[in-house]
Order: sequence, then structure tokens, then C-alpha cells
Amino acid sequence: MQLDNNVVIAGAGQAAATAAAELRRAGHAGAIVIVGDEAHAPYERPQLSKAMLKPGAAPARHIRDVAAFAADGIELRLGRRVQAVDAAARHVELDDGSTLPWSRLLIATGVRPRRLPGAMDVPGRVRYLRSLEDAAHLARDFDEGHALAIVGGGVIGLEVAAAAAARGIAVTLVEAADRLMPRSIDAPVSAALARIHAARGVDIRLGCQAVALHDDGSVELSDGSRVPGARVLVGIGVEPNIEAFAGLGISDALGIRVDACGRTAIEGIYAAGDVASQPLAAGHGRIETWANAQDHAVAVARNLIGEPVAYTAPTWFWSDQGGTNLQVLGDATQGTRVVRGDEGSDRFSVFRLDDAGRISGCTTLNNPKDMAMARRWMRQATRLEPSKLADPATNLSDCQS
Ligand code: FAD
Ligand code: NAD
Repeated sequence: MQLDNNVVIAGAGQAAATAAAELRRAGHAGAIVIVGDEAHAPYERPQLSKAMLKPGAAPARHIRDVAAFAADGIELRLGRRVQAVDAAARHVELDDGSTLPWSRLLIATGVRPRRLPGAMDVPGRVRYLRSLEDAAHLARDFDEGHALAIVGGGVIGLEVAAAAAARGIAVTLVEAADRLMPRSIDAPVSAALARIHAARGVDIRLGCQAVALHDDGSVELSDGSRVPGARVLVGIGVEPNIEAFAGLGISDALGIRVDACGRTAIEGIYAAGDVASQPLAAGHGRIETWANAQDHAVAVARNLIGEPVAYTAPTWFWSDQGGTNLQVLGDATQGTRVVRGDEGSDRFSVFRLDDAGRISGCTTLNNPKDMAMARRWMRQATRLEPSKLADPATNLSDCQS
């Protein structure tokens, strides 16, 4: 085990903070320096689209108490960007011209929102949501009551739509695909979400894109219609923060390419969290979830000090959309589909089973207990009887085959 090397972590978000804490917990005695380009100590992002958009916006929640970093001997170098890496000299170059040596480098730079094309990316009118500052801008828009057009019907779009509608703001949501959240849920669940949001007053336009922003406060859509949009919130996916590592040969189209242990192709350089392009069942891919930023960072930290730990956790995330709690596990779009509850209601679960009757995916709507069970079944590779699972009168604990 290498417990006295110095570790530099590029990025000061959730994965960085978690990995640093885990390094100390695991006995790493060398220096740990976290370099982050935001002015803030690592903070929780999920609240940006939830608690922080409620009236009287909640204060920022840090991943760890700032004093805990100092107590652990972890240096936070904030407001500083990693510009480049010299892998031969083993140092990073910062935007103030200084260099920092490392014997292990962890890349945890996350992702940033994809932007609208230039002419439509109007400052002050078009909003994105990734940082505390972004959330503050949006919260002010809500306070001022501006009509909101949302571009993108993914997690950001739907959470913000729910928050805005709850405050009585006129909301139109424009999604390019023919259904909501097409990336992670199946068509009937998309339809249920559309019904729930529409009932709250959100005007949902599917199969549409925004093509122009007009000075009268309207937004023109690709079907020729115009919708109110004095403010426009864009949630059309993300791109990885990998520019500082260009030329090292460790990135692919999705992020920093790692193996199951978080190692890149260069010995001593690792990546964790949103920015990592990880080996998945069907090729490499990013996992952009809170749970991954947490658990991947812990596993990679262990690898970084020489304990080989393969990271194999299934994807899981939650999304609170107003009063609706959505949770998704694994691949919730493939496999035998078993519905428990009424899909026409606001509370049901959809289990996905593989050929052996084991959970391969699950979606729950306002059913966290079903999700907790699905996660346990997946961990334990439990074989289930579909007819029992589909019958709400049968206890979940009696659904094994
Ligand atoms: P980040 O948290 O993005 O941290 C990366 C940091 O690195 C950033 O501060 C970035 O500015 C910095 N950085 C980038 N480049 C450099 C550089 N060159 N030098 C120095 N610093 C750099 N997940 C869920 O499962 N459930 C939710 O409900 C949920 N809600 C969310 C709501 C919002 C609004 C957002 C934006 C995300 C949400 N997520 C949610 C996703 C979750 O927050 C992310 O998966 C998680 O924050 C990823 O952590 P990370 O450390 O990999 O990246
Ligand atoms: P996303 O990929 O979840 O959704 C983007 C949506 O925009 C998709 O439905 C896509 O079809 C649509 N789209 C793409 N281009 C479009 C266009 N030109 N016009 C209209 N629609 C278009 O991404 P997001 O919602 O932007 O979320 C960004 C990041 O924030 C992700 O990393 C996500 O994981 C994270 N996040 C997670 C949660 C959560 O897990 N609860 C909540 C908020 C944010």
C-alpha cells in the first residue's frame, strides 16, 4: 500500500470531496490538495433544482463541513483551475502559472451543461443549472414571476418545471424527443410523468425544439408555434470537463476513460464521478448521479492507494419533481416488464426482470419502499415470480420464485 504519496485532485465537487475523505479514512498519510475552479467548498448539487428554488431559497449544503477538510489535513485550493497536466514531470499547471507535483492524480472535474447555439444563448435571459450562482439566478427569476420556457425534458427540465409551477409561474417545457426522460425511463412511465406535470399546469411540447428567442418575450418552436419565455432554462444534457487533459491520450468522446478500478491509461492518473467514462454492460459511458459520485469516488480512492477494488454498483438515482419522487435502478427500459400498482395513478412501480427472473432494472413513482426492495433483490440476485410481483396484495417479501 502506498500511504505517503502526495495526491492532487482536479475538481472540487462531490467526487473530489468524497475521495479525499476516503483517502484519509483508509490511512493515506501524504499530502492531499483539491484544486477547484469554483469559489465554493464542495457542495451538494441536488438541492439546486429542489430546495433552492423554493421561496426563501435554502442555504448551500456542503458535502463536508469546511473545517473537516482542514482537520483532515486536506488543502482546498479554490477559485483555481487546472489548466494542463505534464504526465512525464508529474505535475499539474494551474491558471495562476503555478505547478503542483503529484504522485497520484485524481481527475474529478465533472461535467457542464450543453449550451444553446450562439444566437439563442442570450445572457440574462437564458439560464443553465449547475452551480450555486445558476440556482440563485433562477430563484430570482421565480421571485420576479417571469414566464419560463424550459428547453429539455430530462431531469433538470422536469425538476425545474415542478418547482416553477408550484410557485404559480407559467411554464412551457419543450422536449426534442417524442417523450420525457427518454434516456432512462420507458414510454409508459414517460407518459405518466407527462400526465402528472400537465395536471400541475406545465404546458408540455414533445417532438419540438426552440428555434428563436424573440424580443417580445416569446420563444419560437420548430413547429412554428410561439410560447411565453421571458426566461429560458436549458437542460439539454452535459459535456465533460476534459480540456485540461487533452493530449494525454486518456479521454474518449464521453469523458476520461477508466477501467473498473478508475485507472486511466497513464499509471498514477485516475478519474471518478461524472467525468469518468466507465466500463458498463454495453461499452463505456458516464454515470451522472449523486450515488455514483459518492460510491465511485470511494472505490477509486481505495485503488489510488493500492487496494484493487472493482466498482460494479448498478446505476441508481432519484428525482424529486414537486410532490413526485421518481427513482430509477439499472436499465429500466429493457427486460420483462412487470407493473405493480396502477400506471394511471401517481404511485406505481415497474420492475424489469432478466431471463432468470432477476431484477435488471426498476422504476418507482412515489414508491421508495419498492425501490429499496428492488435494490436488495438486485444485490442478492433474487429470482422473482412475475405474477406475485404484479399483485399488490402479495407482500414483496413473498414474491420470490
Ligand atoms: P461536480 O459536482 O460537477 O464537480 C466537479 C467540479 O470540478 C466542479 O466544481 C467544476 O467546476 C470543477 N472543475 C471543472 N473543471 C475544472 C478544472 N479544470 N480545474 C479545477 N476545477 C474544475 N443526482 C441524483 O442522483 N439525484 C438528484 O436529485 C440530482 N439532482 C441534481 C440536480 C442538479 C441541478 C445537478 C446539476 C445535478 C444533480 N444530480 C443529481 C447529479 C449529481 O449532483 C452529480 O452527479 C454530482 O454532483 C457529480 O459530482 P462530481 O464531483 O463528479 O462533479
Ligand atoms: P438529460 O440528459 O437528463 O436530459 C436532457 C433532455 O434534453 C433529454 O430528454 C433530451 O432528449 C433533451 N434535448 C436534448 N437536446 C434538446 C434540444 N435541442 N431541444 C429540446 N430538448 C432537447 O440532461 P439534463 O436534464 O440537462 O441534466 C443534466 C445533468 O444534471 C445530468 O448530468 C443529470 O444527471 C444531472 N441531474 C440529475 C438529476 C437527478 O438525477 N435527479 C437532477 C437534475 C440534474
